[in-house]
Amino acid sequence: MDNIRNVVILGSGCAGHTAALYTARANLKPLVLEGHEPGGQLSLTTLVENFPGFPEGIQGPELIENMRKQAARFGAEYRLGHLDKADLSQRPFFLQVGKDTILTRTLIIASGASARWLGLPNEQALIGHGVSSCATCDGFFFSGKEIAVIGGGDSAMEEATFLTRFANKVTLIHRRDQFRASKIMLDRARHNPKIEFLTDTVVDDVLDASKKEVTALKLRHVKTSKVWDFPTSAMFLGIGHIPNAKMFQGQLDTDADGYLKTTNYVFTRVPGVYACGDVQDRRYRQAITAAGTACMAALEAEKFLEEQGQ
Ligand code: NAP
Repeated sequence: MDNIRNVVILGSGCAGHTAALYTARANLKPLVLEGHEPGGQLSLTTLVENFPGFPEGIQGPELIENMRKQAARFGAEYRLGHLDKADLSQRPFFLQVGKDTILTRTLIIASGASARWLGLPNEQALIGHGVSSCATCDGFFFSGKEIAVIGGGDSAMEEATFLTRFANKVTLIHRRDQFRASKIMLDRARHNPKIEFLTDTVVDDVLDASKKEVTALKLRHVKTSKVWDFPTSAMFLGIGHIPNAKMFQGQLDTDADGYLKTTNYVFTRVPGVYACGDVQDRRYRQAITAAGTACMAALEAEKFLEEQGQ
């Protein structure tokens, strides 16, 4: 049946475009469903300096647009929309996207993980201008400055410790006085002379959207209700990520936080269904590692179709 797709790829971040490039070059005419956040996390960042091949760095949105163009040049088809429902219990797999039904022989899940944001009035306007969820991507821009990190888990400790490479001072702001972080990571942060802790404190807003830069945070002490403006050049969020895998609950294995479980890098428990990038990677979460696992998923999908004689 020629209305059955060979490959459908969920997500249009770095992993989605890479899987599209490889499967398009294998002449499999992949369909990419772009998802809730077309372009993924790279489209939210500014200068990317750790993706090999760009000695001067490249803007995240430009990098992701280049990836898309490259895959489209080989025949990858892109469609706006996200998956409402999937039935992976039989092949071809059934996907519901809005009013459309799609049947596919293989599925590559590259739906990523979305950074958890605080939901502050001016937060979204300042992403890329001092508000960031990725210390590895954006820390360098704040060399010699003072930075705030929000959160009390391992991500926040890791980010705060990493950011001391650049910043003069890092203030870790946490809403409680107990930490979810592992002892070793908390101790490392506590012993770092550049890190100060502000506990029982929440952020009510970030300033100053009119200047397109972060100048201060509006803070509130949860026990005393004291409010004050806290001058800072950046706010890094380390309050967790949410893997975009909810729609596969019950059909694929996930860990306690909802990340898809894979074996041999990209295999889910359903033959013909692969997962790559941040939706299955809680550890590295880099563009280059997402591209790497996406390449593996694409090659496995190609091999699977070949073995099925399709
Ligand atoms: P997490 O353990 O869920 O911690 C999230 C932190 O953010 C918590 O302290 C939480 O506060 C805070 N938070 C969440 N929503 C908030 C909000 N709206 N306002 C203020 N604070 C908020 O997430 P994570 O740190 O990303 O870690 C996720 C998993 O990855 C963990 O299993 C962790 O061990 C692992 N991880 C490991 C490493 C490593 O080993 N190198 C590095 C990073 C992450 P409360 O505590 O009050 O809920």
